Amino acid sequence: MALKKESNSYDSEQEKSKNEDDSLLELKDLENKKEIESQPLEVSKGDDNENGFLDFGFNQSILNSLRNKGYKNPTPIQKAAIPELMLGRDLLGQAQTGTGKTAAFALPLIEKLADNKELNAKVLVMTPTRELATQVAESFKSYSSESSNFKTVAIYGGTDYRNQISALKRKVDVVVGTPGRIMDHIRQGTFKIKDINCLVLDEADEMLNMGFLEDIEWIIDQLPENKQMVLFSATMPNEIRNIAKKYLNDPAEILIKSVKKETQLISQKYLYVQRHHKLDALKRILELNNEGVIIFVRTKLLTTSIAEALENSGHTVAVLNGDIPQNQRENTVDRLKKGFIDILVATDVAARGLDVERIKLVVNYDFPFDKETYTHRIGRTGRAGRSGEAILFVNQREKHFLRNLENSTRTKIEEINIPSNKIINEKRMEKLIENVNESSLDKDENEENKALIIDVLDNLKEKHSMDDSNIAMAAINLVIGNKAFFVNEDDSWIHKQNNTDRNRSNRNSNNRMRNSNRRNNYQNDSFETYKFNFGKFDGVRVASIISTICNSTNINGRSIGKIQIFNDYSLVDLPRDLHRETKNKLKKIKVRN
Ligand code: AMP
Repeated sequence: MALKKESNSYDSEQEKSKNEDDSLLELKDLENKKEIESQPLEVSKGDDNENGFLDFGFNQSILNSLRNKGYKNPTPIQKAAIPELMLGRDLLGQAQTGTGKTAAFALPLIEKLADNKELNAKVLVMTPTRELATQVAESFKSYSSESSNFKTVAIYGGTDYRNQISALKRKVDVVVGTPGRIMDHIRQGTFKIKDINCLVLDEADEMLNMGFLEDIEWIIDQLPENKQMVLFSATMPNEIRNIAKKYLNDPAEILIKSVKKETQLISQKYLYVQRHHKLDALKRILELNNEGVIIFVRTKLLTTSIAEALENSGHTVAVLNGDIPQNQRENTVDRLKKGFIDILVATDVAARGLDVERIKLVVNYDFPFDKETYTHRIGRTGRAGRSGEAILFVNQREKHFLRNLENSTRTKIEEINIPSNKIINEKRMEKLIENVNESSLDKDENEENKALIIDVLDNLKEKHSMDDSNIAMAAINLVIGNKAFFVNEDDSWIHKQNNTDRNRSNRNSNNRMRNSNRRNNYQNDSFETYKFNFGKFDGVRVASIISTICNSTNINGRSIGKIQIFNDYSLVDLPRDLHRETKNKLKKIKVRN
């Protein structure tokens, strides 16, 4: 089955799109491929009177459930995908979560199954994680809530088989599941697939990242040949295009260019720092960036003590906390806007809604209580289309929260190191050179000052016999002042901390979840090797081990180390500091039943 030739020009089309007009909701039909700009969903809800879903020809039950959900207008991806899927075409879509892609494939499939009376499932949706499987199954259930006897079943690892088996025994229209568990049920004969006529691969790139390629191919090979195929992926790497080429038949292609949310303009970073080094780390961070900074802390008391410490180090700082009267707070924000102060130390409540364009950096000195607090904090930078930076301080105990935060915000937060003396000194040098260069007379507009400087120069040359280079050196010396220019305090704690923590966290960007890398990396003492009594003879593979561990515990796939599978047992490297509860869960896990 060949993919249409347009698909080969995917990259160039994508490239082309970058240069196009950036207006919202633009729909282009590039020969066969639809390239659409998404917009925030609230905007697409439309007027109370409209129902943009009427044109698709959905039955009344679907329209009723959409009305119950409050959907008024289809999102761009729904507008583009629904008609194609209703026609029974295969579809290749590049779109991210949040664009309305689930309804884009669920609604036409529910419509097509409106009169289905048969027992066996007709549609299979494969997702990388149990969370997404649950979410997609819930969406199917809510869109079909008004359709009589429409059944969706979710099957994923980490939970008991019995409920899934009994659900699969009854009438089912749609099965949503993760690859490992789908395979198990197919092998056991508990999931009858002979009537499947549509397969959806959701977040296909993520499934590949998790090492599910072989599983996916195995499943596709088991399914009836004649079926509609839908593939959604947030990115289009070669592997995904290859799958599309291999399995999709003349697909409609849709690319949703999501409009950048404000948080996407913010580069999000974190650094490991032990509690007693936090203030030192903060001061070092401010060496690199100290103009337009908000530091978030948990208590009012901390706002003042940190502000004092920073002031003592020569920064212009103000405090924003709930004890400060409103008019004074407004005055502080105003001074920050005008540049009279550079750094604000604030609590979450006091900084709510703060909108200052010149904020370049947000420091999460204390870990935020929840995702919403984090998103609000970092949203204080990257205002008005500018870019910004957010740094999160993480200690050993907060590592799990960091992973949860990454998962719930669906963002990769990049690790950085605490700046060492070397980095700070380089920066100081750079700044000095920049300052001297910027003070060069050519750029000086003030004629009076110019005349004064020339007088001083003449005086130095004539009366003090100084030459040009002596004068220049003396002037720079004056700028530097008598304080030590370079930092030379002991920074070995930083190196120690950066190294240990990087090893412990195993989060450098090369450590992607691909199994090949997994085998080569992680050879350090931050792991403990766990022995599981399943192996090759039980049919387990790397992907199934990862998915089972991730689904049964709160361990993130990225923090799993080397996996070795022997005939009747497997060795898996897992982080050394696992919680007792997690260890107990590990004792009970079963792979491939
Ligand atoms: P998804 O991209 O499928 O994860 O959907 C993102 C969110 O948008 C979900 O909360 C959906 O319920 C919601 N949504 C999907 N389609 C629409 C629509 N046409 N109007 C309003 N909200 C929608």
